[in-house]
Amino acid sequence: MTSERTLLLVKPDGVQRRLIGIILSRIEAKGYEVVELKKLTATAELLSEHYAEHRDKPFFPDLVDYMSSGPIIAAVIEGHRVVEGVRSLCGATDPTTAAPGTIRGDLGCDWGTGNIENLVHSSDSPESAAREIGIWFGKD
Ligand code: UDP
Ligand code: MG
Repeated sequence: MTSERTLLLVKPDGVQRRLIGIILSRIEAKGYEVVELKKLTATAELLSEHYAEHRDKPFFPDLVDYMSSGPIIAAVIEGHRVVEGVRSLCGATDPTTAAPGTIRGDLGCDWGTGNIENLVHSSDSPESAAREIGIWFGKD
């Protein structure tokens, strides 16, 4: 088996709603392994690095406010084809249209705040995963 790693974040809304266990349980039940785990409140600097591709988007300031509004769970998840597997478990960005059966589709809701609060982040490619794991857990 060729193993791969991805970064999963339980965002502040997921932590605040007491969904850490349910979310990690879905990842583990699928068959993936949680190999690193920590709880922290992200700074604007860390989020600016993590979301570098979105720095110039109009929603970026609100995204930083949302993501720094409370503690986050950061996890490194390991398994064969885990990057695409965890993306698939998380579901589409918009919780209203995310497919039922996914974390965002089953547990996420648009509260009408203007922010897309969608409980989780997961890396979108092996290259993003390596970059993001370095940001949240430090480079090996
Ligand atoms: N986001 C937002 N408004 C938008 C697009 C994205 O608030 O119009 C937030 C949302 O929380 C999303 C994050 O920014 O999860 C990153 O956006 P991306 O398009 O990369 O979605 P993801 O990869 O998280 O599905
Ligand atoms: Mg993304």
